[in-house]
Amino acid sequence: MFIEPRVGNSSHIARRGWIEVICGSMFSGKTEELIRRLNRAKIAKQKVEIFKPAIDTRYHVEDVVSHNANAIRSTPVSFAHDMLLLGSSCDVVGIDEAQFFDDALMDVCVQLANSGIRVIAAGLDMDYLGKPFGPMPALMGVAEYVTKVHAVCMQCGDIASYSFRNAASAQKILLGETDSYEARCRHCFLEGMKGRS
Ligand SMILES: [Zn+2]
Repeated sequence: MFIEPRVGNSSHIARRGWIEVICGSMFSGKTEELIRRLNRAKIAKQKVEIFKPAIDTRYHVEDVVSHNANAIRSTPVSFAHDMLLLGSSCDVVGIDEAQFFDDALMDVCVQLANSGIRVIAAGLDMDYLGKPFGPMPALMGVAEYVTKVHAVCMQCGDIASYSFRNAASAQKILLGETDSYEARCRHCFLEGMKGRS
């Protein structure tokens, strides 16, 4: 489990920010891990704000909702830059479904961290083709801490890091309903992709 080397902003030292990334495939528990970290900060009376891209309206508009319905209030934003103003007064900024944000995300997270804010971003590291997803690779490059969580392969039970899509749609932004995707290991992902062009 990820243990923060420090979590607080003690009054006798200057406020220091940093960036944490939680990445992995679908069904790997990314959002649960994000919520775990954010809830601990909230209990400690730190000012926490959670953002998600306005595009993700799978369940409730204002909640970050993971697959186990462990919900936490969040603010949908259209552009990464919106978080600079909205998050400026926070101790901790959480970002869910970070892969759906625009390329400004990395710069926004750096600016927030530079101003003393702890930034925790969770998102898919790979799309359904197994390629790096949107702004995630850049964000992982500038983060102090990167945690890659894994799912269980729904074919063979091995450790899974790929999101295999069953649906025929070629749309990259097809949000993660259970029946459209399954978590797969490298071997089973490659087997499933055979015969697709
Ligand atoms: Zn497998």
